[in-house]
Amino acid sequence: MKRRDFTFMSLAALGLPVLAGGDSLGTMSESFLEAFWKLDPDAAVMSGRFEFAGHVTLPSAAQRQRTRTFAKDWLARFQRLSDAQLSTTDRMDRELLVGKLQGDLWRLDKLREWSWNPAEYNPAGPLDLLLNTDYAPLPVRLKALRPRVAAMPAYYRAARASLAGVAREHTELAIQQAPGVLGVLDDIAARAAEAGQAGAFKAPLAQARAAVNGYVAHLQALKPVRSFRLGAELYEPKFVHDIQSARTARETYDLAQQRREEVLASMQVQAAALWPAVIGSEPPPADRFALIGRVIDKLSERHVRRENFVDEIRAQIPQLEAWVRDHDLLSQDASKPLAVRETPVYLRGVAGASIEAPGPYRPQDKTYYNVTPLDDLTPEQAESSLREYNHWILQILNIHEAIPGHYTQLVHANRAPSKVKALFGNGAMVEGWAVYGERMMMESGYGASPEMTLMYGKWHLRSVTNTVLDYGVHVLGMGEAEALDLLVRQAFQTEREAREKWRRVQLTSVQLTSYFSGYSEIFALREQLKARPGFNLKAFHEQFLGYGNAPVRLIAAEMLKG
Ligand code: ZN
Ligand code: ZN
Repeated sequence: MKRRDFTFMSLAALGLPVLAGGDSLGTMSESFLEAFWKLDPDAAVMSGRFEFAGHVTLPSAAQRQRTRTFAKDWLARFQRLSDAQLSTTDRMDRELLVGKLQGDLWRLDKLREWSWNPAEYNPAGPLDLLLNTDYAPLPVRLKALRPRVAAMPAYYRAARASLAGVAREHTELAIQQAPGVLGVLDDIAARAAEAGQAGAFKAPLAQARAAVNGYVAHLQALKPVRSFRLGAELYEPKFVHDIQSARTARETYDLAQQRREEVLASMQVQAAALWPAVIGSEPPPADRFALIGRVIDKLSERHVRRENFVDEIRAQIPQLEAWVRDHDLLSQDASKPLAVRETPVYLRGVAGASIEAPGPYRPQDKTYYNVTPLDDLTPEQAESSLREYNHWILQILNIHEAIPGHYTQLVHANRAPSKVKALFGNGAMVEGWAVYGERMMMESGYGASPEMTLMYGKWHLRSVTNTVLDYGVHVLGMGEAEALDLLVRQAFQTEREAREKWRRVQLTSVQLTSYFSGYSEIFALREQLKARPGFNLKAFHEQFLGYGNAPVRLIAAEMLKG
């Protein structure tokens, strides 16, 4: 699941509300959110607050100054609240908000990605969302879109003035994304024509297109000077702000290396045992990676037919629900069955399968499990995807995304609704839970077989390797050849998957560690509590998820108190 990142980038502060003394955290965080949406209407739109759709902001130095003032002011207000006045969940909300605001200030003044990452300046997301979401009739949406289109020349002028000392990889990304921005403008033109408004949009659209092309020409002329690698001095604090772990980045990396060795040792045993039945009488290779790789490769031939891909996923969901119920792992809400659907066309191109949750401002909307059918792929690409999501891995994917992974976690979080946690929740807790859920299902005996154990090892190794790769590349200077070898030969990934991952690690940092970081802290917490008398697995899961999307560190502190 991808979470939206709320950095203060394109903002317009419209003043701060004054709070009377004695306000509860609830009213204070409501006031904060309303002020925040005014400051950042794009974030408001992306969160479903469509009444901010017509507000336009520019990514200028003046905006950054307003943001700085806003963040410092609210940080001081939240820090002034004493813990004694707050309930447990309010205390977690407060810590989340304080952490978010500290992180925003750190990003603004220390990371300064606004000065070196040209891809930060991309107005397509809100445009696309407003065009394609039926929150209001088309003419109303076009009315909100028009000032946004008209502001694009000024938007790109502000972007150009902000950039100094760019990184090559991020500059190339921004150039590659430009046709996508132009595509959204084409879609707007088509829908405007449909609504009989072609004339009103003609000039602003032409100027917006020229602004996009002008930005590309500007970027092509820039001389990149900055490395995409963060280096230890930025990576460690970014890890602190983004992950909110009890461990440092270095400790997490060391733990991932240790876990990697454990997983590989167990996969080696499993592959050796499977060899005669899967491969035959040929003598197995002495090399660990060759042995495991050959068995995985052969087993991957077992997969669904491409035309059955979505149906198979749909069929597995009730089976997972039944397993979780029958093995008393977690309570579920039978009144909210998960709807599996083909990914709407305008959302395709990101992930093969993901949970689409409507967020706290659209409680009436359904939660979907979007699955992208393999229709658009060549036969070779489809075969590669099907081998990747083979008979065993497809089940683990459903565990991760749906039950008892992301979807189940969401249902539990919504029982004690907190807008703060829903909007600014901790990504490592969310991903960590899904990764923990995979292991917990295997421990319960789900799909138990030597083949499943080996395939689970491969899948789990991916989360672990993400951490090794991210820290290795950004802090230890790992190069492309070494990274591809780590992913392909030593983690059994396809060439295509490995290349995509190499690209992702150049363009992002720290996010790839969230899976293993969250998982390892949840698992350690469970093992610690398990040692206490009266431990009950289901009760542990219910209590853990009941706190919502808070950092595992904070949840652990609460649960270890009792
Ligand atoms: Zn996930
Ligand atoms: Zn095949």
